[in-house]
This record gives sequence, C-alpha cells and structure tokens, in this order.
Amino acid sequence: MIKDGWEAVIGMEIHAQLATATKIFCSCAVQTGGEPNANTCPVCLGLPGALPVLNRRVVDLAARAALSLGLQIHETSIFARKNYFYPDLPKGYQISQYDKPFSSNGSLTILTSERDDQGRAVEWKPMTIRLERMHLEEDAGKNVHEGLPDVDKYSYVDLNRAGTPLGEIVTAPDFRTSWQAYDYVNHIRRVLQWVGASDADMEKGNLRCEANVSVRKIGETGFRNKAELKNLNSVRFMQKAIEFEIERQIDAHEKGEAVNQETRLWDEKNQITRVMRSKEDAHDYRYFPEPDLQPLTVTNEFIESVKCSIPELPHAMRDRFIDVYGLSFSDASQLVNDKGRAEYFETTARRTLNPKMSANWVLGELTRELNNSGKTTAESLVTAEDLAELIKTLEAGKINNSQAKEVFIEMFNTGSSVARVIEDKAFEQVSDPGAIEKIVDEIIAANEAQTAAYRAGNEKLFGFFVGQVMKASQGKANPKIVNEILKSKL
Ligand code: ZN
Ligand code: MN
Repeated sequence: MIKDGWEAVIGMEIHAQLATATKIFCSCAVQTGGEPNANTCPVCLGLPGALPVLNRRVVDLAARAALSLGLQIHETSIFARKNYFYPDLPKGYQISQYDKPFSSNGSLTILTSERDDQGRAVEWKPMTIRLERMHLEEDAGKNVHEGLPDVDKYSYVDLNRAGTPLGEIVTAPDFRTSWQAYDYVNHIRRVLQWVGASDADMEKGNLRCEANVSVRKIGETGFRNKAELKNLNSVRFMQKAIEFEIERQIDAHEKGEAVNQETRLWDEKNQITRVMRSKEDAHDYRYFPEPDLQPLTVTNEFIESVKCSIPELPHAMRDRFIDVYGLSFSDASQLVNDKGRAEYFETTARRTLNPKMSANWVLGELTRELNNSGKTTAESLVTAEDLAELIKTLEAGKINNSQAKEVFIEMFNTGSSVARVIEDKAFEQVSDPGAIEKIVDEIIAANEAQTAAYRAGNEKLFGFFVGQVMKASQGKANPKIVNEILKSKL
C-alpha cells in the first residue's frame, strides 16, 4: 500500500537468455555447469584478432520474442560496443545495441491485480504497458567468489557464460505498483517460454530482471532520482524489493533526506535493499558502432514467416477457453500457465465434450500427480486420450468418483488403460436395477425399526439405508440408482 499523496514510478528491464544451442558470436556451446572456462574460444575470450559472426538462430528467436510481445522489428539494426571494465568482460566492452535496436515501440496488454493480505488477487484488470525496445546483446562471464571472508578467499573468472545471447526488454516507466511489475514479469516469462524463445527460468538465471524505482507526489510530472534494483532472484523477491524501496524513498523524501541515483541489491535475509554502487550514466559507456559486425538486416518475408510460426498466445487461448468452453476466468488462467497442460486440457475436453469436468481433472488430479512426480504433461503416462476415456467411464456411471480417482493414480503410476485398471481392481459398478433392488429389499427387511421410523417422518435415516446398501454391495452399487430405488421402496 502506497502512502497517501504519493505514487511510485517503476520501469522494468528484463534480460532474457535466448534459447540457442550456441553463443551469439561464436560456435561455443551454451551450457550451465561443467568445467569452468571449458566452453570458450578466441572470440568469447576476447583474444586480439578474433572476429564475431552473428548466430542466425539468435535472430529467429529474437524475432519470435519481439513479435509475440507486440514489438516492431526494424529492417536494420546496428550492434554497438558498450565500453566498461569488469573482470568478467574480457574484451573491455560488451557487444550490445544502442540507438538502432533490433525492435522497439511495443505495446503489451497484461492482466494485473493488487493482492490482499493473504496474497490473493483482488480484481484482475487489463493494463497496457509501453515496451520501449528489445535489443540484442551478449552476456558477460561470471565472477565466482569462494572461501570465507578474509580467510582463504579467492575470486575466479568463469567465461562459460560470456557470449550467451540475450534479449534486453525495456519498458517505459508505466508501472505504479509492485504487483503490476510482478504480473508483467510473469506475463513476459510465460510468453517467452510459450513461443520457445527463452527458458525464462529466473532460478537458473536465464531471465534476470531489474526494476527502476522512484516516487513522486501525485500530480508531479517530472521524475525524482531513481534506484535501480538488482539481484532479484525471483519474481516474488522483486515484488518485495520494489515495495520496500517505495516506502524507503517516500520516507526519505518526507524527512528531507537525499534519495540518490544508485544501484541497490535485494537482501532477502534482512528483507531490505542496500546500496551496491552509485549509478553510471549512459554516456559513461562511450557507445559506438561495432566495426567488426555488419548492420543486421531482416526482410519482410522473414518477419512474415516468423509470424506464421508463432502459436496462439496464452492470453488469446485463455479468452478462447472462456468463450468456447465456458470455463471460469480462474480455471482458464490456470490452464494456460503451462502450454503443455493447456493443450492436454483441450484434447481431453474435445473427447469428453465435458470441458468443465475435464478442467477439474486436469487442474486437480493430473496437476497434483505431475507436481508430486516432477513430471511434465508430455511425460505423463496418462495421456489426454486416456483421461478422456476415464472421464467418460465415470460419466457413464460404471465407476464412482472416488474409484475414478484411484483408477487415475494407478494409470498414472503404471501406464495401464482404464479398462485394465477397473478390471484388476474389480471396480465395475453395479448399475443393474434388478440386482440393486434385491439388496434394497434385504436391507429393508433386516431393519424393521429404522424402516418404521423413516416412514413415520425421520428422513435423516435415508442416509443410513444408502450406507447399508453400499456396504452390502461392497461399494460397487451405482449410488444414483441406489437412491432412486430406495426412495420408491421406502
Ligand atoms: Zn566462443
Ligand atoms: Mn543489458
């Protein structure tokens, strides 16, 4: 909650690793883990005389990302050197893009909501975000610090990551709350994963985000000094860091203390942000065009061909699930959180012609078993077709709901068919009215006192009779038919 009279101004920068097999300007493998400095060559080590060559696959994936985020791709973009010294940057500059980026001028509609005390969304509303640009650049290496402070402390440089392709996505300062930024980053992650442009996994570091946060009095049009928040290892940490920073700055302004333009880190242990360094201004980097690379040109045909290969995007699919299948917003949103699961649902729903029940099973039983086993929908031994078969069997009254759940787990663990598991477990329901009627007659005859009491008006006893019949049938009687017959006989 932001203090009355104040508002936050937040802009986001996301570095997304494009999911190529090799680096952006050389053919070294992009790999995490492995021997330090094993995946390096004269180009990514920055040895004198080595020349970069642009990886074509980077352009394909960048185009997928740009188009699915509503960005305009420029026919010509220029690589530029961003000069700075740091041990993990062997050339002394990063090859990036500056005044002629790969894409710019995007407009993206996301859904966002504030959260209540329990972290639940209050009300989802659409919000349009201006994307200033997505440019291409290479990643730096990694400095690794080991040992105890002051004792046996060593620092190493690992250049396996140097030259990994990145798309840097920069927004206008359009966010006013931490939850808007949170929903934005999740939107970007999901879209990039969905179209296969990036694994977008923050824990693995292949999606990193920075938030530029400042505050101002409502009504002010200029900007006050901003802090750039880094070291945000999860979307939730980022949200908390922004929230802390908004309060810290408002507090400082109200006390008349200086708010400096600086880079701050999130300290999860202490739940605060701390100063990392005062911020360099853009001109410190002495950008100039990279003389070793040609301008990057893309044709209209190329852009059109990429457009055609982009699948239906998650928000479009969510809206279609609501319109076509009558799902709730919440169910549809949850289904499209994962592309594999969304497709699995659709296959199931088309076969069962019961979308609501299909959604319940996919979001309930299937999701639980997938989470427990760490499997993806593609690895599930129960295919969408199998689940549809199970749902149809349940709907036909051959088994009851709790049996269906048991059958599902057995199928999930063993890969058996519905029919096979039902047979093995002898689950087939008794739906033959004659057989059930016989049991009902026996139960009524054996419980004279209860029968008399029920007929005298004690309707609560109905449950007792149902229980007795189910017990006598060893749980196999179809409960619907049991109810009908009991009602007519009593
Ligand atoms: Zn290399
Ligand atoms: Mn960057």
